[in-house]
Amino acid sequence: MYTQKDIIRMVEEEDVEFIRLQFTDIFGILKNVAITKSQLEKALANQCMFDGSSIEGFVRIEESDMYLYPDLDTFTIFPWRPQQGKVARIICDVYCVDRKPFEGDPRYVLRRAVKEAQEMGYNLNVGPECEFFLFHTDDYGRPTTISHEHAGYFDLGPVDLGENARRDIVLTLEEMGYEIEASHHEIAPAQHEIDFKYEPALHAADNIMTFKLAVKTIAKRHGLYATFMPKPKADINGSGMHVNMSLSKDGKNIFCDESSQDGLSQEARWFMGGLMKHIKAITAIANPLVNSYKRLLPGYETPVYIAWSATNRSPLIRIPAERGENTRIELRSPDPAANPYLTLAVCLAAGLKGIREKTDPPASVNQNLFALTEEERRELKIDVLPTNLKHALSELKKDSFICSVLGEHICSKYIEAKEREWAHYKASITDWETNAYLEKY
Ligand code: GLU
Ligand code: MG
Ligand code: MG
Repeated sequence: MYTQKDIIRMVEEEDVEFIRLQFTDIFGILKNVAITKSQLEKALANQCMFDGSSIEGFVRIEESDMYLYPDLDTFTIFPWRPQQGKVARIICDVYCVDRKPFEGDPRYVLRRAVKEAQEMGYNLNVGPECEFFLFHTDDYGRPTTISHEHAGYFDLGPVDLGENARRDIVLTLEEMGYEIEASHHEIAPAQHEIDFKYEPALHAADNIMTFKLAVKTIAKRHGLYATFMPKPKADINGSGMHVNMSLSKDGKNIFCDESSQDGLSQEARWFMGGLMKHIKAITAIANPLVNSYKRLLPGYETPVYIAWSATNRSPLIRIPAERGENTRIELRSPDPAANPYLTLAVCLAAGLKGIREKTDPPASVNQNLFALTEEERRELKIDVLPTNLKHALSELKKDSFICSVLGEHICSKYIEAKEREWAHYKASITDWETNAYLEKY
C-alpha cells in the first residue's frame, strides 16, 4: 500500500526525526536500529547494514554483514514519542550480503509458510489473545511481582489499579491502527487481556510484536511494569496467548460449513488433525521457556491434554461458538513469550499438512478432561502435552516436518540455545528447594 515516496512524504509532513528499523530475533526479542531522516532514502533502497553476529542465533563473525529490507506497509509513528521530532518505525526483512533472504529471519520462515498456503489457495487469519501482568517496580525501577490490587475477571475500577494503564494502552493501540475488540481484567490479580482483530498471519505476528512494545511502554508511563512471562507467580493463573485461526479461500472463511452438524467444515477438521499430530513439537516453539511449563498445569485454565472440544475450555483446542465468517479454532497452549512468527509458521504448516493428508482429528471430548481418571483418558486415547522444555525439545528433534518448516539454521540454533537454557535451569537451586529442605535436613 505505501510506496517509498509515500514514506518520504509522511516523514516530512509529520516531522519525523528518527526512524527505527525493526526485526525480531529467533527467540522472539524485538531488535531495532535507529536512523535519522537523513538516512531514510538509503534505508528505503535496502542499503542499511547491521552486524548480524551481535544478534544471538543469527550468524558468525566471519559472515556478519546483513541488510535490512524495510517492509513499507509497516510504517507507523509511535504515538508515545514527542510530537515534534517524532519517532516512526518500519519492520524489516533480513537479507544476506548476497541479497538472498536470511534463513535465520523468523519473519522469512512465516513468509515461506504463508506463500505455501497461498499456493494451495489459502490465507490464514489469526486473532491472538494476549494476556499480561502489570506489576509495581522497586525503588530502583526494576520489575517486581508485587501488585496491590485484588481484582478478578471482568472487574472494574476503582479496584483495578491497572485500569488507567490499560485504557491508555488501548487508546494508543487504536491510534496505531489496531482494532481493539475487547479489553478486560483477567482472573488473577494484576492480570489483563487486550484482544485485537484478526489479520492475515504475517500482519498478525507483526501486530503481536508491536503490541508487546506498546504495552510495556505505556505501562512504564504509569509507573507499572508489564510482563509477558508465562507464569510469573505460582498458585494463580499464568498468561496465555490463545491463537484463533481460520483459513480463507477467495475471501471466504472455509472453516464454516452450515450443513455439517457442528458447523465445521472438513478442512477445519483436517487442519485440527494436522495441528494435533504435530503439537508436541510445536510446543517447543509455542512454549519456549522453562517457565512456560509451569503455566501448563491443571487448575489454571490451561491445556494439559491433547484434545479438542466445541463446548469445553479445558482442552488444547476449543471451537468458539460463533459461525459464519467468524468460524475459527482456538489453540490455547501458546504463551506470550513465544516468537509469534515461528509459532504461526509451524501452526499453519501443520494445519495445511493435515488438509493435504486428510488427517482426521480424534473425536471431540466434551467433558471436563481434568475430571477423568487416568484409565478413562487412556481409553479415550488422550495424550498429554510435553511437561517441560527438555521434553518438548526432544519432541521437536523427532519431528522432521516441523524442523523443515523452521529450516535448518533456525532449528539447530534454537535447539542449541534452548538446551543450554534447560541445562542452566537444571543446575540451579530454586527458592522452593531451599525453603523446603534447608531447615529440615
Ligand atoms: N490465563 C489462561 C491461560 O494461561 C487463560 C484464561 C482464559 O481462558 O482466558 O491460558
Ligand atoms: Mg483470557
Ligand atoms: Mg481465549
